[in-house]
Amino acid sequence: MFFDPKVCDKNKKRSQAKTIPLTSPQFVLANLKLAGFALLFICITLVSMVSSSAHEIISAAHMTSADTENDKEPAPFYEALAKALKKRKTRVDNICPPSDVVARRILEDYGAIFLAKKVTPPPLCIFTNEEQVTRFQEDAGFTSLLIGFDEVELQPEAMKQLVKAREEAQKEALDITPRDGAEAARRNYDDSLRLWNSRFSPALDYWLAQGRLNVEQVTRLRSLPLQQQVAEVLELEKSGIYFSKDLSKSILYSIAAPGTSQHIAMLAFDVNEFENPRVREIMSKHGWFQTVLSDLPHFTFLGLKEKDLPKNGLRSVEVNGQTFWIPNVTNAAVP
Ligand SMILES: [Zn+2]
Repeated sequence: MFFDPKVCDKNKKRSQAKTIPLTSPQFVLANLKLAGFALLFICITLVSMVSSSAHEIISAAHMTSADTENDKEPAPFYEALAKALKKRKTRVDNICPPSDVVARRILEDYGAIFLAKKVTPPPLCIFTNEEQVTRFQEDAGFTSLLIGFDEVELQPEAMKQLVKAREEAQKEALDITPRDGAEAARRNYDDSLRLWNSRFSPALDYWLAQGRLNVEQVTRLRSLPLQQQVAEVLELEKSGIYFSKDLSKSILYSIAAPGTSQHIAMLAFDVNEFENPRVREIMSKHGWFQTVLSDLPHFTFLGLKEKDLPKNGLRSVEVNGQTFWIPNVTNAAVP
């Protein structure tokens, strides 16, 4: 049944019963209420419009260039690297032989440095002796700066931008100072070897005490040629036998393998104030970025604008609210 005259009739009566004369106080009151509700509705709408646009303005102001640019698909790292190396008349196989597993791992973990502009990136993934390092450092050149009691050394453009960043920080009553003295910047080959051993040796003792390694294994590991030692450490880490300072992650997130440190390239600076977001922002404005996951105080000079990092083959990874720029390679190990 589509139409029931009784129901219709009932509705008619109900509507008739509700009819109120236009002049009655009830009518005026009802309209006043209606007007009140309408006014309230308009107010709420206006307030929400104003607050949402204010929110958008605030969000836009807080949005860093990384937020807007990170959404762009980053270029593949190896493609961007090939282009950068071509300009320097070399190829990836020359700086990092594909057969060398350690070199490739290092390239894919700390490779951002090879894309650096306005400076001399290292000609190799792994320096194997002090002489090689000395020659590179002399060719690239470096300048020094006294910060507090510490004399730090960096490639000229990296230093120039660090000085600018410090000046900007100081204007805001902040500072950018070296962590652990002169070692915060340039290091030589022996420094990188000593720092490697400062992680490698105690970790061996620990895993021996834990029964995860035996005496023969430990003795053998200690006596291995360096390259092979690094390779075997990385292999052991696959089974959870870690060599970082806190033994919870890869040694490469704690210290560079000997001869691979960005500090050797004089394009790295360890910052005491890394926890301050404004300090990180100022550093990035001047071409300095965090590029080694889990090495929080460590900044690398790339000489690039943050918005241009994705097209240079780097992708951003957020760890505890800090942005790291790492090579955009597939299957990269991200802790
Ligand atoms: Zn460092």
